[in-house]
Order: sequence, then structure tokens, then C-alpha cells
Amino acid sequence: MKRWKKITLVLFCLLLVSQTPFVYRRYRLGRLSAAITEVNSHRAPAPPDDPFDDYAGVFHVHSSLGGHSTGTPDDIVRAAKADRLAFVVMTEHPAALVNTSEATLRGTHEGVLFIPGSELAASDGGRLFVVPGIELSDSSLPLRDLVARAKGEGRLAVVGYPDEVRDWQPGDYDAIEVYNLYTNSKKINYALLFFDGLWAYFPYADFLFTDFYERPDGNLKRWDEINAAGRQRIFAVAGNDAHANVGLSLQEQTGKKILDLKLDPYARSFRVVRNHVLLEKGWPLDAESLLSALRRGHSYIAFDLFGDAGGFRFTADNGADSRVMGDEISLGAAGTVRLSARAPVKCRMLFFRDGQAVQEVKDSAVAELTVERGGVYRVEVYLDQLGSLLDGKPWIISNPIFVR
Ligand SMILES: [Zn+2]
Repeated sequence: MKRWKKITLVLFCLLLVSQTPFVYRRYRLGRLSAAITEVNSHRAPAPPDDPFDDYAGVFHVHSSLGGHSTGTPDDIVRAAKADRLAFVVMTEHPAALVNTSEATLRGTHEGVLFIPGSELAASDGGRLFVVPGIELSDSSLPLRDLVARAKGEGRLAVVGYPDEVRDWQPGDYDAIEVYNLYTNSKKINYALLFFDGLWAYFPYADFLFTDFYERPDGNLKRWDEINAAGRQRIFAVAGNDAHANVGLSLQEQTGKKILDLKLDPYARSFRVVRNHVLLEKGWPLDAESLLSALRRGHSYIAFDLFGDAGGFRFTADNGADSRVMGDEISLGAAGTVRLSARAPVKCRMLFFRDGQAVQEVKDSAVAELTVERGGVYRVEVYLDQLGSLLDGKPWIISNPIFVR
């Protein structure tokens, strides 16, 4: 055999061997996709006496108004409608010449409720999401001043980018963004993603997320510690931080697009993770009811990419009163509270007290825990039946019930 033929043959064999792991990863994504379809085919309907309606939507979305993004209002409305979201909370960066939270999407479009908010950078680290949004004349305020302004005006105040926050007593804020999809996506190994993309992008683009999805251990620990300290009731939200700004685009001078490849289109981001908000049955979803539910922690985080979590409930009963996640309840006459969690499919539910796992219930759609001690109780839900790609990666993160 001629030398060049040998070299070509060796190179070809090396190429084949180097691609084997990616072919296997594509196969695993295929199995995951099939398992998700199977799990979702067994969803149980909500019981008829369920006192809540469940609305799924997204929090922390940018358009082109505040820079960093090329997304138009049309792009966002179209994606939200395609993903059948109930609501979108816009969080625009301030801009020099435009009041971005005034100019962004608001009201109902294509059946989706849009709430305009702001993402403000604190001079001492971290960000604050303020909803409805505000325009600041002074752009160098510390986090506590931003919180004071937002809460003084009765707005929702959510601390974002917790790993950048230095002042952890910034006042009476409502919630922490414990999960941020954009921050998590920085864990992407682009060399691996390139080859994974070659093999798996077309059939399983959405599921490439599982390669980098990580439970936000540090943020959850911080959140648990703040609540366990007992001074405040702080809730959790997930942020999509959707910009639709990662990719490659070529356009003519007239603006006509010749090529437009986006790795993070809005519709994909909106499918991955959502906040589900609970409203008492009969209450219409509007800006007021949505913000009130978020302020009271009547919500939970769900990675709906792995299955629609709608119908998940975490409630408490002390014999006299019943409460739902976000609420406070006292130990009843018998000195106990019964905590109950219910999911739309069989799963593994893990109960936490003050950040420590205290009980695990496997292979069941319902779980109960009777407690005799005060504490901050919350639930994480795992879909072990989806296989090892999701090991240690929660499907649902509930808000807490505060047993006093
Ligand atoms: Zn942002």
C-alpha cells in the first residue's frame, strides 16, 4: 500500500475512533427523549378539589432595548406563544436615552401576559430585578439602596447573580434568582458542544442542555441559610436570562438576513426552565395577581424540558389550617404539621429542613412528612427514570413552607 494511502487510512480510523463518544452521547440523548415522552404519557390530571390554577411562565428576559441582544418584541411574543407560556417577566437593562422598562413589552399579546421590569446593577456587586421596572437617574447605587427604593414603592425585588453579591443583608427583598440559565450555560465546553452538535443538534437540540445542566448547589445553600436564620422569608425564582444573542448572523446593508444561526433562541430558552405560579381558582391572571403570587412565594421552579411539572403542589396542614408553598404555618394543637407533596408523575421527592435533607420518598407521585419541629421546609423532585444523564439534577425546586 502506498504511503499516502496508509496515512489516509490511519487518519480515517482516528477520526472514527474520536467520534465514538459523540455517537454514544447522541444515542443517550435519543434514549432520554424517548424516556421523557414515556413519562409524560402517564401524567395524572389534577384532582378536582385542587384549590389552585397553575400558570407557567418565564422570568428575566431581555430584548434589544438594553443592548446585549438582537431580540425584537415580535421574536419574544412568537416564542412565548409557541411555547404556550402564560406570562413573561421582561427585565431590561437601563439605557442612556430610553426608559427601557417603559418601552418594553407589556400587557397581553397572543394570549401571553407581559410584565415590564428592570435589571439594575448594584455598585457593590450583584443585580436587582425590579418589577414593574424603574428608571434610575443615579446608576451607582449599592444593592441595599436599590432594594429600599423598589420595596418603598411596592415593587417586586429579586436579587440576581447571587455569586456576585457581597452585601447579604440588603434589606427586605422578596426573592433570589437561585438558578440562571445563562450563567449555567457558561459551563459549556464548546469543543465538546461542537461535536455533540454535529451529531445531535438536529434531532435533539433542546436536550444538549443536559450536558451542562447543574444543580445550583451554592445558590441553594445560600438561600437555605438565609431562610434558616429566621429573620426573613425569601423565595426562589429561576431566570432564563434570555437574550437570543449567541450565534452567527450575516445581513445585507438593508438589514435583510442572509444567515441567522442562533444557539439560544428565545423559544428554546423558554422550554428549558420556568416558574409556575399558583393562583386561587377563579382569580384571573393579570399583572397584579402574578406579582402578588411571586411576592408570596406561591410559585415553584420547574425544568419543564424534562416534563410539564404543572400540577405540582407542596402544602401543609396543622389540623386547623392548610397552607401552600410560600406560606407560614404554626405547629397545630397536636404539635405537628403534615407536609404533603404531589407531582403529576411518579418521581423521587426529597424534603429539606433548613437546607438538610430529612426524608426521601421514591417512585411515588405523592409524599408526606409529619413534622414536630419548626423550620423551613422545601422539596426537590427528581425524575430518576430518565436515566443517569439527569443524576443529581432536579426537575422541580419548590418554594418553602415556614413552620413556626
Ligand atoms: Zn439579564
